[in-house]
Parts: sequence; C-alpha cells; structure tokens
Amino acid sequence: MKKINAFMIIAIIMLFLPACRDLSSESVLNGSASQGTDTSQSVSAGTGSRSSSNDLFSGQSDAFCIVNNNVPFFYECEMTSKAYESYSDLDSLGRCGAAVAVVGKEIMPTEERGTIGNVKPTGWHTVKYNDIIDGNYLYNRCHLIGYQLSGENANRLNLITGTRFLNVSGMLPFENMVADYVEQTGNHVLYRVTPKFDKFNLLADGVLIEAKSVEDSGAGLQFCVFCYNIQPGITIDYVTGESKVYDGTPLNAQEVSSNDEDAELSDVADDSAARDYILNTGTKKFHLPDCESAKDMKGNNKKKFHGTRDELILEGYSPCQRCAP
Ligand SMILES: [Zn+2]
Repeated sequence: MKKINAFMIIAIIMLFLPACRDLSSESVLNGSASQGTDTSQSVSAGTGSRSSSNDLFSGQSDAFCIVNNNVPFFYECEMTSKAYESYSDLDSLGRCGAAVAVVGKEIMPTEERGTIGNVKPTGWHTVKYNDIIDGNYLYNRCHLIGYQLSGENANRLNLITGTRFLNVSGMLPFENMVADYVEQTGNHVLYRVTPKFDKFNLLADGVLIEAKSVEDSGAGLQFCVFCYNIQPGITIDYVTGESKVYDGTPLNAQEVSSNDEDAELSDVADDSAARDYILNTGTKKFHLPDCESAKDMKGNNKKKFHGTRDELILEGYSPCQRCAP
C-alpha cells in the first residue's frame, strides 16, 4: 500500500512539476492565493508564534511553489492519530524515497542528538562558497522528516543532499509550522516528504512536502508545496551534485569548483574536535553550553548536541552571534 502510494505520488509530481517550474513565482502564488489564504490564516490563528509562518503563503518566494492548490495527495484511510514514521528503502542508486510520518508529541525528540557526519547521501560534496552562501557550505545533510518532528537522526533513509537554501529557506519554515501546531494543540499531523530525482540524477530537484492535521481534518493545518533544491548564485549539476559560481553558462566537467574539499575534508574533519553544543532546533542556531541565549531558550526547541562545528554547519545550523561558538 505504502509503495503504491509513493509511486503514485511521484507520478503526480511529474505531472505537476513542469507547469510549476515554468510559471514565475509571482503567478504561482497569485494563482493559488484564494486557496492559500485560508490555510495560512487558520495556521496563524492556531499558532501565531512565528511571523514567517503567517507570511509564508502570501508573500512571494523563490524557495517553493504551491502544488495542487495546496491540498495534499493523502487518502482518507491514511489519516490516523497513532504516531509513526515510515521510510522508503534506498533505490538501486542509493537514493532516498518518500518518508511518511504521523507527527505527534509522542515521537518528537526529547533526547540529545548524536552525530550524522558519517552519512553521505547521494550527490554529496563538501563544498564551500565563502562570499556567496550564508554559512559557506553549499550542501547540508537535509532530514526529510525534520529532526525536530521525529527525532530521527543518522538514518540514511531520511537524509538527502540539499542546498542550504532548500534546508533553511525552503523546508524549515514548513517544519516549524508543523512543530508549532503539534506543540500548541497536542493534535497529530500526517506529514510526507518525497524527494524528486530526475532520471538517474544523484541530486534531487527538490522535495514535495505534504501536511494535513488529523483530528480536525486539515482545518488547523494543511499544505502541499514543492521546495526547490537550488542555491541563489550557484549553478548545480543535478546528475552528479557538482557546482560552480553562476555565470550564465551551464556546468561542464572542466570547471567544477576548486572549493570542493571532498577528498581531504569530509572523512577527517567531520569527526575531529567534537564537543558539546546547545542547539535551537527552531531557529537553527547553535550555542556554547554556557551562553546566556542558550539558557533563555524555550524548552522544546532546546537540544543538547555532541559533535563538531563543521557537522552542525553542514546540517544547516549557524553559530550564535553572542557566544560565537
Ligand atoms: Zn549563544
């Protein structure tokens, strides 16, 4: 049943994506405004703690487009209030498939998170663009079902290579919306993230994220969006994951970024100089354990972490300005 659903979803995405891509972000968002408005208003009425959630569907964005008038492709029989997580097996190329969860407080993380630096999803390159990308690294290990929602960490079936822009500007606001709704209502959310790989590409074009609140049948929270795996200012080859600074020409093998530190960096540096940090899973900032900001932090976003600085940055975290870890 799950396998069939995942297959159908991919077929559906393929039908929608070309149209989605061709439209400008303005026309996508304007075209869906009548449907999108209801959702964003009910979300903000229910939560309201993060203004980015409220503005998400009304403003323009290059990070995502709304799919199927913001209505997820779930079947009624999938709507259950029993929390679970389910991950697809890797395909023959080692790529992730759909990840599904019924998110509830009972599966949200309470424990300190461990290291994930040893997981290398398909298309992975440890590559930096210091003046172009906030946080420097192009790629993050992107959780399909976000760590703050499921507590799943170093699960290879739940990690893809995603740009920092996908992680922070694309997926994080939607994860926060789900986390806020669950924390504030105690209800459950059926949540599915499906990476879309074109042909034999090792890097995903993006992810379809679907969410629908269970107890109130979507009245409190419902969305269906495609988040692009892109990075402003960078040209990416989705076949391999190689990249270069955008100059208007396609990538060819001779001019792949010389910043690529895969060979020397990733195996060694990820595991060196591990120490304790405090994470804010909502804002994606990391702190030293004695930082005042860390002490003031809201309980459910606060996580202990033992690992390296590089690893946190590769996961999309950025250092606190106050304690400068
Ligand atoms: Zn701090």
